[in-house]
Amino acid sequence: IAAIKTVLITGGAGFIGSNFIIRFLKNHPGIKVVNLDKLTYAGTLDNLQAVIENPNHIFIEGDICDFKLVTGIFEDYQIDAVVHFAAESHVDRSIDRPSDFVNTNVIGTYVLLDTARHFWQDRANHLFQHVSTDEVYGSLGETGYFKETTAYAPNSPYSATKASSDFLVRSYHHTYGLPVATSQCTNNFGPHQHEEKLIPTIIRNAVKGNPIPIYGKGDNVRDWLFVGDHCEALELILDKGIPGETYVIGGDNEHDNLYIAQTVCELLDKLIPREKGSYKDQISLVKDRPGHDFRYAVDHAKITSELGWEPKTEFTSALEKTVRWYLNNKYKQ
Ligand code: NAD
Repeated sequence: IAAIKTVLITGGAGFIGSNFIIRFLKNHPGIKVVNLDKLTYAGTLDNLQAVIENPNHIFIEGDICDFKLVTGIFEDYQIDAVVHFAAESHVDRSIDRPSDFVNTNVIGTYVLLDTARHFWQDRANHLFQHVSTDEVYGSLGETGYFKETTAYAPNSPYSATKASSDFLVRSYHHTYGLPVATSQCTNNFGPHQHEEKLIPTIIRNAVKGNPIPIYGKGDNVRDWLFVGDHCEALELILDKGIPGETYVIGGDNEHDNLYIAQTVCELLDKLIPREKGSYKDQISLVKDRPGHDFRYAVDHAKITSELGWEPKTEFTSALEKTVRWYLNNKYKQ
């Protein structure tokens, strides 16, 4: 990181990207961040309020698939490193309309890789950091964990396009010697997440007095990772990650969807009690998502032993912080 003067962050107006930028600018006042984001339905400058006046943050509205634009950014700002978050990220949308996923997640990643390949002729002191998902490994049963060595088995159009982008990243390292690092994380939660995702959906419907929809029997299991812990891991990879390596990142925090809904409702019962009864009474099981993966969980021993990272945040207090953020910023009473 000592050699990096300017880093290109893609998708920095989205959930994880905006949390990363706010933290990164605070921790690295000597580094410029160029933030390229198309501001799709999922991105908003509201997420960047904390840094919009910061002269080290340069926001560019545009598409990562636009070769000319991306080339111009590398030229104008002398980009040293890339942290690539931009993606279509919502599984349900990928089932209804896969084309945007193929364009942004596959073609967009190719455009960024190919531009970096041309610009970073020396290959040293650069890193193309690719932010991916544990969903590329498919689905687990009741036991077991995904590791960096697990065979890929993506099941949704979303995870298939992320897997494709992982393979492109890998190939640019093996074929052209591009310094790359890939991370694959579990489900993130925290402030700035789009309201279509599970935890904001639970809070919004609870507060509005609507049924809280939970797929199937509510027994699908996810490992929940606080976004701050994830951003810390990403910063460590940018600093110390070994080119060509992949790191899985998880929260050691597995819960099924029904437990998540019930816990959010208990927090709301404490923070803004209903006149009668509990928010849990609003939980409503609905028809399952087609092809719904049963369980995701990772064994993050590699990043722990090699880079010294571990998830630090206690789940219920981070969830309460998250619920409070949505009540104060999105679903004001
Ligand atoms: P998000 O949907 O909240 O944000 C995506 C951002 O990318 C938005 O700001 C959007 O405007 C931007 N974008 C989309 N298409 C673009 C394009 N063509 N050009 C430029 N910008 C574009 O996503 P997120 O939850 O912050 O996820 C960030 C990354 O992390 C993604 O690559 C995702 O696959 C990965 N990931 C997320 C999670 C999670 O739980 N959120 C878990 C595993 C992996």
